[in-house]
Amino acid sequence: MDDNELTRKVFLAGGLGLISLLGGGWLLKACAPPEDTVEEKEKSKWQPSYAQLEESGEFALRIEQAYKYLEDCQLCPRRCRVNRLAGETGFCRSPEKVVVYSHHPHFGEELPLVGENGSGTIFFSNCNLRCVFCQNYPIAHEGRGRMINDEDLAEMMLDLQHRGSHNINLVTPTHVMPQIINAIRMAFKEGLNLPICYNTSGYERAEMIELLDGIVDIYLPDMKFMDGDKAERYNLAEAHDYPEMAQQSLKEMHRQVGDLVTDMDGIALQGVMVRHLVMPNRVTSPREFAFWVAENLSRDTYVNIMSQYRVEFKAFEYDEISRAITSGEFVEAMEWAKEAGLTNLDERSLSQLEIHRYRMD
Ligand code: SF4
Repeated sequence: MDDNELTRKVFLAGGLGLISLLGGGWLLKACAPPEDTVEEKEKSKWQPSYAQLEESGEFALRIEQAYKYLEDCQLCPRRCRVNRLAGETGFCRSPEKVVVYSHHPHFGEELPLVGENGSGTIFFSNCNLRCVFCQNYPIAHEGRGRMINDEDLAEMMLDLQHRGSHNINLVTPTHVMPQIINAIRMAFKEGLNLPICYNTSGYERAEMIELLDGIVDIYLPDMKFMDGDKAERYNLAEAHDYPEMAQQSLKEMHRQVGDLVTDMDGIALQGVMVRHLVMPNRVTSPREFAFWVAENLSRDTYVNIMSQYRVEFKAFEYDEISRAITSGEFVEAMEWAKEAGLTNLDERSLSQLEIHRYRMD
């Protein structure tokens, strides 16, 4: 059977919806399909969005546009305006070449990304946000990793596909976006045919996200803070504009790919999946987060409210975040999500809700 052939019936995990044909690939938008449509879908072919972009001749142009930003780097809201092609570095400390910490199938991500064979994760070193509570600080703050060229990165993507991964999951990609999309095109020419997942802190410029339209299939952004003062306090260099930048970017992501679409096995094909890490003392504004998503993206947005906050890196220097969250803090965040009308809450966060409720009894 051709690699491109969709071998699984397509369905939406959330239940209801509307099927739409997007440029040769069938996608289920918001409802369970009638039986005859399912059969038809089995015969159809699914392609990642970048296949269509290449066909249109637009892919190379996007790479050229993105690489230009490295000369006067404005890839993210920091806008350092350094010439990374000439060896200068800005806030993220990222050189011209990509630095990668590791690449491997990962089984700790959301279930629609993991499936049976794992999410094909590539961890990029350095970061353009650098939170004081960073859960990956040796990679993000200290930049541990190996410098590679775009061809090597393309090889990593193909290796992950060869190992059966369900997607290419790009962790902390913002500061190396041009190199990444160049590598995706190289890998595509060698047979890459997996959804691309853009796994970002959310500290993005919407203009840069626009460049990814037709390249990224799945967006996996954090929405860390809804309050600029909190964002400023808990980042090493002020990021007061985090909520504004993240909100604009998430709207653009949702405009491009919409709500989550999965295949018949529940594996993500396209859409936005939003993460919100609950921290002590409501510093992330979980209630505002839930209502913002419901009102500005969609009530059917896939939302993962996470309970695994740990006191890492410099977090112990801030009294209000120098402890784990309580069961009550997690339960109230989940209840606000429900109150906001969010319908597609992550399965594991729902399980955690039961555990934390039990602990409160
Ligand atoms: S990607 Fe790095 S160098 Fe470029 S603007 Fe952002 S922090 Fe500065």
